[in-house]
Amino acid sequence: MSSHPFSTLALAPAQLRNLADLGYQQMTPIQAQSLPLILSGRDLIAQAKTGSGKTAAFGLGILHHLNPSYFAVQALVLCPTRELADQVAKELRRLARCMDNIKILSLCGGVPMGPQIGSLEHGAHIVVGTPGRIQDHLSRKTLDLKAVKMLVLDEADRMVDMGFYDEIRYIVDATPKRRQTLLFSATYPESIRKDSSRFLTDPVEVKVEALH
Ligand code: ADP
Ligand code: MG
Repeated sequence: MSSHPFSTLALAPAQLRNLADLGYQQMTPIQAQSLPLILSGRDLIAQAKTGSGKTAAFGLGILHHLNPSYFAVQALVLCPTRELADQVAKELRRLARCMDNIKILSLCGGVPMGPQIGSLEHGAHIVVGTPGRIQDHLSRKTLDLKAVKMLVLDEADRMVDMGFYDEIRYIVDATPKRRQTLLFSATYPESIRKDSSRFLTDPVEVKVEALH
């Protein structure tokens, strides 16, 4: 077995200590393949199975590139379901606990808009949500994505299968063209591949077959 300690990455010392506290001793294969590219700012199409540690791969990238003293939505993570969005938000909060006052907001459907609009008025550094609800906030202008520098499409194939393609396109068009985009998926969805220049700029493809 090859070893991939997190300490080979240019992460903050406080984050390396946090990862050790979380019991993350080695990078998983998808983390070892994708994190150097993510930290260098490349766009990425990453294919790996469930349970392979994709959340920390993009999460560590988001937190590395985030400017904590700039209080605006700098990263957006789209997930297919509320359950997955809540899991991602929870993992991001664990990864962010070594940093001061990083605000992470989860915005999903199935709950009233009012409290979400209230939370958005208080602001956030990172938004995690489902495509329908994020589009709803954009069309009501209760969410502004002009400061986004990182966009993550998590489980992109499932989002497309669930009929969210138009919403994803609408949301992508509401983010700046100059941004880093990371697409995580079990497969590379055909609809996104056909229109890939809209989503990704010169992406690197990484693929991990086996679980660690
Ligand atoms: P995926 O999104 O690929 O399905 P997750 O990001 O949900 O996988 O991670 C699966 C589990 O592995 C989570 O419980 C997470 O805390 C754990 N995990 C992630 N990275 C590591 C690591 N480097 N070492 C140990 N556990 C990890
Ligand atoms: Mg996942």
